[in-house]
Amino acid sequence: MDYLPLFLNVRDQPCLVVGGGEVAARKIGLLLRAGARLTVIAPQVDAALAATLVEAGATVLPRKFASDDVQGQRLVIAATSDIAVNAAVSEAAQALNIPVNVVDQLDLCSAILPSIVDRSPLLIAISSGGNSPVLARMLKARIESLVPAAYGRLALLAGEFRQQVKARFAGFGQRRAFWERVLDGPAAELALAGNLDAARRELTQQIDARADTASLGEVYLVGAGPGDPDLMTFKALRLLQKADVVLYDRLVAPAILNMARADAERIYVGKARAQHTLRQQDINARLVTLAREGKRVVRLKGGDPFIFGRGGEEIETLAAEGIPFQVVPGITAASGCSCYSGIPLTHRDHAQSVRFVTGHLKNGSMDLPWAELVQPAQTVVIYMGLVGLPEICRQLIAHGRGADTPIALVERGTTPEQRVLVSTLAGLPDLVASENVRAPTLLIVGEVVGLRHKLAWFDGGRGSS
Ligand code: SAH
Repeated sequence: MDYLPLFLNVRDQPCLVVGGGEVAARKIGLLLRAGARLTVIAPQVDAALAATLVEAGATVLPRKFASDDVQGQRLVIAATSDIAVNAAVSEAAQALNIPVNVVDQLDLCSAILPSIVDRSPLLIAISSGGNSPVLARMLKARIESLVPAAYGRLALLAGEFRQQVKARFAGFGQRRAFWERVLDGPAAELALAGNLDAARRELTQQIDARADTASLGEVYLVGAGPGDPDLMTFKALRLLQKADVVLYDRLVAPAILNMARADAERIYVGKARAQHTLRQQDINARLVTLAREGKRVVRLKGGDPFIFGRGGEEIETLAAEGIPFQVVPGITAASGCSCYSGIPLTHRDHAQSVRFVTGHLKNGSMDLPWAELVQPAQTVVIYMGLVGLPEICRQLIAHGRGADTPIALVERGTTPEQRVLVSTLAGLPDLVASENVRAPTLLIVGEVVGLRHKLAWFDGGRGSS
């Protein structure tokens, strides 16, 4: 983070704008909206702007800037077309530690003004840190269309009841749970529809009804997808942003974890091969304890929680203990890697079925139905098959699949580090041994692998063979 986002209270506070043209006018409008006690200094002020300033009770000084002018100001903005003046304003303000913004000259700024979506009292500020104001404005346009205009009204209603709710619910967590229910429920709908009296009645009722009920937590077992954060579902994202605690695996990308609330507790329970950070029963027990404390817990798993994820075991414990839970599907590695490597898992001409198996070695050997896996017109996807790769290829050939059958290894699929190695059952083990391959990797076996040379679209930036 290059800047600390901050909302500054300038109501009735002295603020200075140097400049009287069109650009200055935009900044002046913003400061007036925020209630600043404004001084504008410029040898020449635009006529329309001058009228606005007089009406708003601002002080206009029709002269050149002098470094003393920054004395006692809360915020200083330079918006002139004269680089030397802008630099002088910046220098004078910074000498006194007064935040200063110079329009379009990032190097002279100690503060930058974001693009805003104004649903006052709700404000959304967007900044690209000066790198691309156009991108920030595009994002602003998207958010404008997403956030209903009436959200400001909803925020005001919540503000009216804030003290009352605080008095009624002692715990911070309880209050948050209460507000989340309310803001998702009928009172919010009434407020958004403009029916404020009915909304107030509903909210009052909710406060009375919930005052004595201690809230039991809930667990959401959530599939985070194979790596690319864009492959999460809306539901996964919504629940992740509700969570008080997030327990996550090794496979979950940091970018995904960052989408949880900043104050959410994050607990790593990942399992690297043969190096278990928390044993499975400990994870199960931990989920129960956290939910009993009233927390909303997200158990975030790579891919889909019910595919080679032991998600079933975790919720069995929850079910037995009577803890409410939900399960959110995710895009499993097979789907993610297939799409991002341009290898369809089924195809009218090449494969009418697909099987997902695990190549995890149990006591050094692999217990797979080899005779079934060598059936023609079938794609076989092998999870956790990197260590056992030579054995997998040997067995498939020994049970009758041609040594020249195409096979692909997709390394860190769907991420910017994705790499795809394509070879044959006979050739892949040596190819992989000669490359520095890193987990997680997925194997795809079958004729469909041959389609990659036509269908590959995602490079991941590392190239492929
Ligand atoms: N529940 C997960 C699978 C967990 S098992 C899912 O549905 O995807 C872990 C295995 O998944 C890894 O050993 C690897 O074979 C595979 N895997 C997960 N993410 C992957 C990725 N981004 N690229 C390649 N393989 C991946």
